[in-house]
Amino acid sequence: MKAVLDHVGIAVKDLPAALAFYRDALGLEVEAPEDVVSQRVRAHFIPVGASNLELLEATAPDSAIAKYIEKRGPGLHHITLRVDDVHAAVAQLHARGVRMIDETPRPGAEGSTIAFVHPSATHGVLVELKQAAPATSHQPPATVPDTRVKRFSVGELELISVCDGFIRFDGGAMFGSVPKVFWSKRHPTDDRNRVLLAMRSLIVRGARTMIIDAGLGDKEDAKFHEIYGVDRSRNLDHTLAEAGVRVEDVDIVLASHLHFDHAGGFTVRDASGRVRPRFPRAQYIVRRGEWEDATHPHARNRASYLRDNYVPLADAGVLQLVDDDRMIMPGVRVRRTGGHTMHHQMVLIESGGKTAAFVADLMPFTSHVPDAWIMGYDLYPMDTLAAKQQFVKEAIEKQTLVFFEHDPAIAAGYIREENGKRIVVAGG
Ligand SMILES: [Zn+2]
Ligand SMILES: [Zn+2]
Repeated sequence: MKAVLDHVGIAVKDLPAALAFYRDALGLEVEAPEDVVSQRVRAHFIPVGASNLELLEATAPDSAIAKYIEKRGPGLHHITLRVDDVHAAVAQLHARGVRMIDETPRPGAEGSTIAFVHPSATHGVLVELKQAAPATSHQPPATVPDTRVKRFSVGELELISVCDGFIRFDGGAMFGSVPKVFWSKRHPTDDRNRVLLAMRSLIVRGARTMIIDAGLGDKEDAKFHEIYGVDRSRNLDHTLAEAGVRVEDVDIVLASHLHFDHAGGFTVRDASGRVRPRFPRAQYIVRRGEWEDATHPHARNRASYLRDNYVPLADAGVLQLVDDDRMIMPGVRVRRTGGHTMHHQMVLIESGGKTAAFVADLMPFTSHVPDAWIMGYDLYPMDTLAAKQQFVKEAIEKQTLVFFEHDPAIAAGYIREENGKRIVVAGG
């Protein structure tokens, strides 16, 4: 069989002291810790070339790692060899009379499948065999942007994910108090420390045709495009056409909030230079509090609100303000999350016993699913936390298909909990 060294596990008694060596003295990057609840262990991975070191810290006195340290002291604990097919590997070892700890492979961390070989068969080294999770079921690096039109059905409703291209925002602002060392692997920065955001809208077709948010649109100038690294080479015009939806087909335009990366596409500038609604037959639905804030910006939020994106809607008489959480069309309702802005709202979709949600800037990337990953842009981060905790719990229970407006690689997915860790499995 073909096997490559995946990682070397090191049992650690005093984590700060271990970090003082591996991180500070050697200068290696330590990734965010992962709790493996079933093993009562916390793992800290340290990439070294194609392999990793894994510092293992017991989280309870009855943890296998705690017992190991008690008996043999801290130090080398196991090595892990990655194989293509762990079942075939175990069968091969069986056939040669090798004693196993795990007679049949079992689930490991991050969707992997593992089996331990007994140290009596390996000359004193605990050897783990590991088959990595299939690439499709876990989060790929966000460096593979995806603008494909994707169709989903939720009961009677058809959902179509469309995209207005990409924009780049400061990485630090996207992740708030989360250190760059934790996010920069999945979200590589450019030479200006910016990370890539998609601008995804959602078409909902049911009793009526609705679009939720509409990206940046095309009213901004070259300077703006330069500052925000805008790439609209494939934009909402292209993806709507591909989805078979014309601007005249849209009955309702629903706003999560009025920031320019969500509301810019609500209006267009015509040949005479006048700004008018882009969807000629539509009513535009905006939360009243958000409207008030957008039309009375202050020093902290002024850069996000551009009047031409929404004031012309009121002038054209197509604006409808809603005051509370309510049904917008059968199967589609809004819920205020607050947090990002005081009146930011998400959209909940329910039909035929199935649920979906368009969460907008509550969780712009799949990376924002963990509680503490909250944007620096958010005006009320503790409200984001509360809304997110409530929603994520519901989404796991109801197996909600969640649409991530800004994730460059994953338009929609299901949130699952595995080994105490939340992951997003791409949908569709
Ligand atoms: Zn926003
Ligand atoms: Zn946004």
